[in-house]
This record gives sequence, C-alpha cells and structure tokens, in this order.
Amino acid sequence: MRKTVIAGNWKMNMTPADTKAFFEEISPLISGRKSCGVVFCVPFVDIPAAIKGAKGTGAKIGAQNVHFKENGAYTGEISAKMLVECGVEYVIIGHSERRQYFGETDETVNLRTRAALAAGLKVILCLGEQLDARQKGITNEIVSMQTKLDLEGVTEEELKNVIIAYEPVWAIGTGLTATPEQADETCGVIRATVASLYGKKAARDLTIQYGGSMNEKNAAELLAKENVDGGLIGGASLKPAAFAAIVAAANKKA
Ligand code: PEP
Repeated sequence: MRKTVIAGNWKMNMTPADTKAFFEEISPLISGRKSCGVVFCVPFVDIPAAIKGAKGTGAKIGAQNVHFKENGAYTGEISAKMLVECGVEYVIIGHSERRQYFGETDETVNLRTRAALAAGLKVILCLGEQLDARQKGITNEIVSMQTKLDLEGVTEEELKNVIIAYEPVWAIGTGLTATPEQADETCGVIRATVASLYGKKAARDLTIQYGGSMNEKNAAELLAKENVDGGLIGGASLKPAAFAAIVAAANKKA
C-alpha cells in the first residue's frame, strides 16, 4: 500500500550554516520510530550540510530542480548524475514557481522527470491549477492533462519512483489552503488519470501529496483524506517545530 510522505521545499532559503543549525534543532523532534517518509528538498549548496545533518533521523535529502541533459554547455544547470553522486535521493520537478518564473513547461517537466528517473532519482512531480481555472470549473481537466503530459514515456516500473504533489497555484505561499474536500477530490482525479494510464494497482500504490499553505494547524485535517498521502510544505518547512508537528500528524495516518 502507498506510503505517506512529508517533504519540505526550502525554496531559496537557508545557507549551509543555517542548514547545520536547522538540523541540530529538528533532528531530536523527528528521530525515532516514524511510519511516514520525510524528505528535505534544499538549495544545491546546502546538500552536503543537509545530508550530514539528517544522518540518523531517517530523513532523505532532495534537490529542487534538475536538468535533462547529462552534461554540456548549460550554464547554471545541474545534472541528475551530479545530484546522485552528492547523495541526493529525491528531486522536485515542475514546481509552479519554476513554471511561472523560469519558463518551465509540461514538455520540459516531462524531459526532466524522465532524465531524473533514468539516473535513479525519485521524483516529486508538482502540478496544479491556477486560480482562474478553479473559478471556471476546469480544475479536473487541467490536472488530468498535466498528469498525462508530465508522465509521458514514464514506464510503470519508473512510476514506483514518482510522487505527485498536487499544488493548486493559488494556495502556494498565499496562506490560502484548499479545503480538505477540494484536496481529496483533485488528488482523486489525478489518481484516476494515473489509473487510466497505468492501471488500478499502479494508481492505488502512488503517493499523491497535497501542497499549498499546509501547516501544523491544518495538516491533520488534510492528511485525514483518503487521497491525500502526505504534503509538500514550503513556508512551514523552514520552522523546525511546525514541520515536526506536520510529520507527527502524518505518522498518525501512515
Ligand atoms: C511549496 O513551495 O510547494 C508550497 C506548498 O509552499 P507553501 O507551503 O509555502 O504554500
């Protein structure tokens, strides 16, 4: 049966020194018996400090982006092989901030996803609708189309290394959260789309997170929903006590 996974997305926050201090504070709060998976997706330069800091906690370290080429003249980019060699296990792909500010499209999200999976990384694939799509009542069509385009060419075997993060764009960093019912319904649409592509078993086993202003106060309610298998957490992942409280809420579900 699918795993509950809580992942933090630090975005462009924290220096290596901040990372060391962060793990000193959070490690005792998340160590010990855990049934949910925990991942910290950190800026590239924080990776060594995060791997060192997370030792013994069971938490895994992820990056926030990866290029689809193995190497070459792509100034400023990082390849999947580079991440793997640094000890990174996860990578976020297709975050709405990448789509909005850095020209990421479903096509490049798909290329990055396939390259990351081929290199042995686990992918947290982000998708979700804009506010106007939610208001026009076309959320289901949008997320279904994104799921199909972003997973094109991904095999059923590779899908076992994919987590989908449903992140309504209007809820990211805004303090607005989807209601538990909205999150459950849309994660359910994504699951049904995956079932149409890969079959019922693959869909049943797929971890689908909700992301969008999830915090220590609303996590339990969101995670209680059948189709919500964890969270991708931005702002609250920078606060050790808040993030640890979300992990505790997920442990009750897992
Ligand atoms: C995110 O960055 O993926 C996110 C969900 O951010 P926040 O929790 O701050 O809304």
